[in-house]
Amino acid sequence: MKILLLGSGGREHALAWKMVQSPKCTSLFVAPGNAGTASIATNAAVNPNDFNAVKDFVLAQNIGMVVVGPEDPLVNGIYDFFKNDAQLANIPVIGPSEHGAQLEGSKEFAKKFLVKNNIPTAAYDSFTKDTVAEGCKFLATLQPPYVLKADGLAAGKGVLIIQDLQEAQQELRNMLVDAKFGDASAKVVIEEFLDGIELSCFVLTDGKSYKILPTAKDYKRIGEGDTGLNTGGMGAVSPVPFADDAFMQKIEERIVKPTIQGLQNDGIAYKGFVFIGLIKVGDDPFVIEYNVRMGDPETEVVLPRLKSDIVTLFEALANQTLSKTTLEIDNRTAATIMLVSGGYPEGYEKGKVITGLDTITDSIVFHAGTKQNNDGAVVTNGGRVLAVTSYGNSWDEAIKKSYQNIEKLHFDKMYCRKDIGFDL
Ligand code: ATP
Repeated sequence: MKILLLGSGGREHALAWKMVQSPKCTSLFVAPGNAGTASIATNAAVNPNDFNAVKDFVLAQNIGMVVVGPEDPLVNGIYDFFKNDAQLANIPVIGPSEHGAQLEGSKEFAKKFLVKNNIPTAAYDSFTKDTVAEGCKFLATLQPPYVLKADGLAAGKGVLIIQDLQEAQQELRNMLVDAKFGDASAKVVIEEFLDGIELSCFVLTDGKSYKILPTAKDYKRIGEGDTGLNTGGMGAVSPVPFADDAFMQKIEERIVKPTIQGLQNDGIAYKGFVFIGLIKVGDDPFVIEYNVRMGDPETEVVLPRLKSDIVTLFEALANQTLSKTTLEIDNRTAATIMLVSGGYPEGYEKGKVITGLDTITDSIVFHAGTKQNNDGAVVTNGGRVLAVTSYGNSWDEAIKKSYQNIEKLHFDKMYCRKDIGFDL
């Protein structure tokens, strides 16, 4: 089968790496892809959010399955676009319907879904421009720190955690009245602050049944000790040491099962990944957020631990036969370290030549922001550039191997955090 994968990051290189290992994948196209995906598949200059361009490509290349990496095409309704088009209706799209993608596209939708299905989450209320005064009053009833979330997609920047009440009230006005995050903050969710340690749980669902993939923990901030600005993620490990069997049992019973049941109850078509952002408070898991696709860099540690054929799993999602499949997981630990452009997540330069890629044999180097220039050299093309993933028999071993191999890689102003996994 010919498969089209949409996206261009480290997540997509990891998905592509896994898909091309399947005998069922006769050829893989990645749109638009990066230099890493070009080395194992064929990149296609198609914008994943231009559905008519995706359609033309799918029909011209006789594509048999579309796998969606990032959230935007899902929130924009690519699943429904295919289902509602006579020429495309039989081609499976791996991802949720537009309705299901609201779990990520609208924080208010997600909170309502959580509450309706009795899934543990922080108490909340939501406000608009017309109810800003009530929002300020609601803030005054809470204890600091105050958590303010723009309802819509805001590229990971729409969540503010503020210590001071007056400042929180001012930010609420900035979001609602002054449209600080544009349309994304036309509505704001204010929620109770939960104090705990975060982890991510990944689930595959065909809308009826589910399989739980390995857990992961990512490191969001640019600076060591988890300080400084938020990034797309500076590294990740899998599994998460504190997610033992008893805790996983709680996640499955209290969160995964009611989530899948809730989708079914609401008639929401969902054939894809559910990424559940969790926080462990005491011994109990609470949902912080849903994402409707895999995480990046978590994919770079979760998929290397999946032994099962991913295309077979995707087919099972499409045919709603997931319950008949089994997941085989590699018991080893996986760790990934992100190499980023100097200056990221603020301004940075692109086009720096990357050297040493061919010298690494015992880690997997996933490309994120890279491209091949006209001379065939691989150059930087984004803030997050490479994810270096290693296996180990312990967290320590996996992390050390990645750090050793990073020494062999170079580009001008390359930066990475030196403390990924040191807190485990
Ligand atoms: P991202 O895209 O970065 O994953 P997001 O913008 O979709 O995140 P959330 O995941 O809801 O937003 O929140 C971002 C971060 O803010 C969380 O990872 C967590 O660290 C913190 N956070 C969110 N809600 C709470 C809460 N109720 N209590 C404590 N911390 C919270």
